[in-house]
Amino acid sequence: MAKELAGTVAVVTGASSGIGAATARRLARDGASVALVARRGDRLAEVAREIAEEGGAAQPVVADITSRVGADSAVEQAVSAFGRLDTVVNNAGVMLVGPFADAPEGEWERMIDVNVLGLLYMAKAALPHLIKAAAGEPRRTADLVNISSSAGRVARAGTAVYNLTKFGVNGFSEALRQEMRPLRVRVSVIEPGNVDTELTSHTRDELRAGVEAQVRSIEKLQPEDIADSVAYVVTSNRRVAVNEVFVRAADQS
Ligand code: NDP
Repeated sequence: MAKELAGTVAVVTGASSGIGAATARRLARDGASVALVARRGDRLAEVAREIAEEGGAAQPVVADITSRVGADSAVEQAVSAFGRLDTVVNNAGVMLVGPFADAPEGEWERMIDVNVLGLLYMAKAALPHLIKAAAGEPRRTADLVNISSSAGRVARAGTAVYNLTKFGVNGFSEALRQEMRPLRVRVSVIEPGNVDTELTSHTRDELRAGVEAQVRSIEKLQPEDIADSVAYVVTSNRRVAVNEVFVRAADQS
């Protein structure tokens, strides 16, 4: 039986670790050719090698998506490697936890640069290609999947700016969904709860232990659990638009 994403091309940002790496592996397994975007080239090469070992196609694309030039170049490299673009998973993100009043401004700026501006630059660069793919024959759809967070639905003390970015991603995704609907580009948002990745490793040393202690008692989601949600969204029949998926760990409050 043909794989569901055979003949399609996906870009996954933040594919060097965690949810992005698992999503890239999953989309490749479902038949997509995948461009792997992030800054750490050695980690991307490792993910690409794993995908190739399973018989899939992947292309590492080293880029910093926080610049317009970096995002444009990532999309252009993907399209020149594989000839088209059907699926974009806007996954790259950072979370720097701590009370707002004490946080260095550089931490807010990093979260806004990656989680908001990087996501917007990638969307802007990719949309013309997605619109073209969706307009192809036979009539089909293309997908822009934005990875938000449970922090885009529920705000908590200690994550104010992260909440700002993820609530923003949710609002942006819904508005863009409405703009893209007539063009058959499905825009979706996925809101993971606690997932076992490197995300908390960037928080300042003096705060990290506290952050990790808060979730130690629960069984975290695995990155593959979120990759399953992405696959569900992008392999759904073209008559179906899964607009929003909120996935918490079963133990999570
Ligand atoms: P990781 O830290 O494992 O992954 C983050 C990814 O983002 C890395 O691949 C990193 O690659 C990439 N990245 C960071 N900055 C840039 C940049 N400037 N340009 C390009 N890529 C960049 O964490 P997760 O897998 O957990 O995070 C993935 C997404 O999931 C994020 O948006 C996060 O907010 C969201 N999320 C995570 C949850 C969790 O509990 N883990 C819960 C809810 C949402 P590199 O450093 O190589 O550039």
